[in-house]
Amino acid sequence: MSEPTEGSVRQESRNWLEANWDPDLSLVEWRNRLVDSGWGAPTWPVAWHGRGLSDPLGRVVEAEMDRIGAVGVARTGIRNLAAATILVHGTDMHKEKFLRRILTGEDTWCQLFSEPGCGSDLAGATTRADFRGNKWIVNGQKVWTTSAHHAQYGLLLARTDWDAPKHQGLSFFIIDIEQPGVDVQPLRQMNGHASFNQVFFTDAEIAPEFILSETGNGWAVATTTLMHERRGADSLRRYAKASNRPGRVYEEEAAEIAIQLEPYKWYPQRAGRVDLVIERAKATGAFDDPAVRQEIAKLLTLSRAAEWTARRARAMQDRGGPQGPEGSLGKLAASNVARMAARVHTLIAGADAMLAGPDGALDGVIAEVLVSVPAVSIAGGTDEIQKNIISERVLKMPKEPRSDTKGPFRDVPRNTVG
Ligand SMILES: Cc1cc2nc3c(=O)[nH]c(=O)nc-3n(C[C@H](O)[C@H](O)[C@H](O)COP(=O)(O)OP(=O)(O)OC[C@H]3O[C@@H](n4cnc5c(N)ncnc54)[C@H](O)[C@@H]3O)c2cc1C
Repeated sequence: MSEPTEGSVRQESRNWLEANWDPDLSLVEWRNRLVDSGWGAPTWPVAWHGRGLSDPLGRVVEAEMDRIGAVGVARTGIRNLAAATILVHGTDMHKEKFLRRILTGEDTWCQLFSEPGCGSDLAGATTRADFRGNKWIVNGQKVWTTSAHHAQYGLLLARTDWDAPKHQGLSFFIIDIEQPGVDVQPLRQMNGHASFNQVFFTDAEIAPEFILSETGNGWAVATTTLMHERRGADSLRRYAKASNRPGRVYEEEAAEIAIQLEPYKWYPQRAGRVDLVIERAKATGAFDDPAVRQEIAKLLTLSRAAEWTARRARAMQDRGGPQGPEGSLGKLAASNVARMAARVHTLIAGADAMLAGPDGALDGVIAEVLVSVPAVSIAGGTDEIQKNIISERVLKMPKEPRSDTKGPFRDVPRNTVG
């Protein structure tokens, strides 16, 4: 068979879409049709609902979908991380059971990594999974779990061996969230939303075939998930574009996106909302003040530089290159943009920036931006952790001294809560 080219992919996907796209189907009916064709996830392997195309050719298919107005497979939320992790580490049974329903959007996932005593230092997890009888029994607590209240399944990092060194006693599981013994409790943030949760496990069960790593080798699998998390925010923005067009598929997709993107509403670029800065400056007349214009110019320069760095990284990956330091640099830049935007907003809006609701600047949007900005510096690895990565991996500075990576985990001093 001849190698696919840009032209052949464009023509073939266009023909298929013209014969099959139907906005009056239900979202799940349409996505099943799309998944069967392989055009929904064109860069995935042929054996698993894809066509094995390169990223640039995948984008040719996306452009054809956009051209005809077709809705794509489900791409929002932690399900992307789940799919990426299962594709690399899952057995055929995992792929069979989970991948199609991730693409059709029928199952939603959450990431059960962080705990009250370990976030940056994820390998310090103390949620335990013990093999008893013929299954794994899970006990412990996770925190900051995005969308656990909508999720059917979770990616769980748990300790299975307390006598092995820290990174070697963890295992990676797929856990059914909707079972007795899993208690999901919402956490209300200072911006008023409750997108995150604490999740408590009390003798929750996992059948032996739902371990995704070898026993004790969960850290390697978690690394795959984390690598995709750094790339994730970008794809979220690219794929989540609900339209107001009439048709059952569009309506059902808009409802799905509203639920899935709720936690990401104020994520990096949105928390920054550089566009709102200019809008507000013009509306209040502050734009005429050269000192304000100077601050806006600095903000725009920083945000444009961050955007171009992200594009350069994407272009490099399109050429088959590895993920470079841009992941950490981009994350750090996004925090800086968000913080600076908050400062310039306050400069322009004055005391109105503090008021929530219709009395505040831009109907309270600025106040909400201000209280949402700190999350950007924490989620997906804090600014300090990104700086450590940059100093060690990019600048090749000496690694932080560690006293906790050798010897049995049970002897390692660790954070205690309560
Ligand atoms: C919006 C949001 C969504 C999230 N979603 C999820 C989710 O879905 N699933 C999930 O598992 N987790 C999630 N998290 C948790 C997130 O990954 C952790 O909060 C984050 O990794 C930081 O961990 P921590 O809160 O335990 O802080 P800690 O690790 O305790 O850090 C406290 C402070 O110490 C600093 N610090 C720690 N270690 C070092 C070091 N070696 N060098 C220098 N400074 C250091 C940190 O930078 C920070 O300022 C989410 C968090 C947020 C804010």
